[in-house]
Amino acid sequence: MTVIYQKVALIGLGLIASSMAHAMRAKGLAGQIVGHAKSAETRAVALEIGLCDHVYATAAEAVAGADLVVLAVPVGAMAAIAAEIGPHLAAGATVTDVGSVKQAVIAAVQPHIPNGVHFIPGHPMAGTEYSGPRAGFATLFDNRWWLLTPAAEVDAQALDRLRQLLQAMGAKVDTMDPAHHDLVLAVVSHTPHLIAYTMVGVADHLAQVSNSEVIQYSATGFRDFTRIAASDPTMWRDVFLTNKDAVLDILGRFAEELFVLQRAIRMGDGDHLFDYFTRTRAIRRGIIEAGQDTSAPDFGRVGASKKTDA
Ligand code: NAP
Repeated sequence: MTVIYQKVALIGLGLIASSMAHAMRAKGLAGQIVGHAKSAETRAVALEIGLCDHVYATAAEAVAGADLVVLAVPVGAMAAIAAEIGPHLAAGATVTDVGSVKQAVIAAVQPHIPNGVHFIPGHPMAGTEYSGPRAGFATLFDNRWWLLTPAAEVDAQALDRLRQLLQAMGAKVDTMDPAHHDLVLAVVSHTPHLIAYTMVGVADHLAQVSNSEVIQYSATGFRDFTRIAASDPTMWRDVFLTNKDAVLDILGRFAEELFVLQRAIRMGDGDHLFDYFTRTRAIRRGIIEAGQDTSAPDFGRVGASKKTDA
């Protein structure tokens, strides 16, 4: 493959940035990869395992001369980082981010982007419940969507170049309006995560069911909730604080549906339950047909952690 960016600066060196570093290296897509993370420990690991050619103690130093800057920090940290790097960005550079929420990140970052620098917000819909610089792997983005939410007046060449990089890393790229992105993600990712956190919290509080029973019999569906509920607390706190309106909208609808199902159970309305579950089964089939999961039996599976659509 050919080099697409001469110098890529990764700001934040966790799961997503380290996966990008591995994917770019595996395919020779970057001339040089440099980085910055908050802690000296993460910066040392990034050097030790070869994620970066250089690491810098400040984000401002890391972005100097970079033709691509990737903001891969929690959503709540984006504004301060953007303010720090703004004056140090090279003319003609592209800045992108990988934050799970788009409107809040655009509001936090765009004001700090100087004229002549292209800001193209993005969100890879791939993740795992692990975090940190050792969590990444080169195939994380294979066949996963990477949504870009550029402004209407985005530079077409800059957008094409970024799209080339993401596709070369294995991703499928689509563009979307930021508000629509936040609503879609509230449905497919953010609210399901909140429900998983809640369900695991409920099990934790249930005095009649002992901890050992919860763990021993977890294969019956609960296990998938525990995997999702093990996701990074900082990242998910920031997601809910910054995608508040869309998540509250979907949660309201969820609560209404839940009450209807609760009533059907109370009234013994088997027809309602059967019809409802038949409709939801069709959604699962649609996901398999779209290639977003396999039809292999999954309950009782063994082996490695699965990717999620974070
Ligand atoms: P992560 O593994 O927890 O890594 C976060 C990185 O950001 C760490 O290197 C951390 O440094 C650094 N960081 C945090 N605050 C910082 C600050 N103020 N200045 C400089 N560096 C800072 O996180 P991640 O999973 O890669 O997530 C990164 C972004 O991707 C988030 O915005 C998240 O919403 C988005 N995202 C995540 C997933 C997912 O499933 N994980 C999927 C799609 C998008 P230290 O290690 O030194 O603390």
